[in-house]
Amino acid sequence: MYPKSFKKLIENFAALPSVGPKMAERLVLHLFRQDPAKVQDFAENLERIQHLSLCTRCFNIAEDELCEICKDHGRNTKLLCVVEEPLDIISIERTKIYNGLYHVLGGVIYSDEKSTELKIPELLNRVKKDGVKEVIIATNPTTEGDATAFYLKKKMSDLSIRVTRLARGMTTGGDIEYADELTLSAALANRRDV
Ligand SMILES: [Zn+2]
Repeated sequence: MYPKSFKKLIENFAALPSVGPKMAERLVLHLFRQDPAKVQDFAENLERIQHLSLCTRCFNIAEDELCEICKDHGRNTKLLCVVEEPLDIISIERTKIYNGLYHVLGGVIYSDEKSTELKIPELLNRVKKDGVKEVIIATNPTTEGDATAFYLKKKMSDLSIRVTRLARGMTTGGDIEYADELTLSAALANRRDV
């Protein structure tokens, strides 16, 4: 009933997380009614994300070898905030109170699974090599997030650095990605040693 390209695009949208078939139809119809220049811009941006990669230092999303945060010389390189995913960086950046660098683990440790995919060796390497003074562990307040924080603390216990964790202002099981700026600012300001 729809033209083929229209139907295909609906399928593309419907395959995205949190987008159901009805929503996909509405989105495609919306795009169809847009000004062609806007659709062109959308298509070009979509094309461009294929060329993005991960920052070779912190594993944030980057256009070049280093991400925008790592490239910024105004940041405090002695302070490192460890997060699960790149989207957590966006939330923490919104608070505007953090001026250190980041390290994206790429997930958390699950008890039934080896953590070889996580960027933990790279983290330990950076801490030693770059003379980091404090590591703030900002994994989500979930069972796995806690286990990961505990594991990282153990791994760094013989290094003479401060290891802290975000305060428990956030609801247990909540996501840093969805936390509001005030909650996250308080959790950062009240971080505690682990
Ligand atoms: Zn980076």
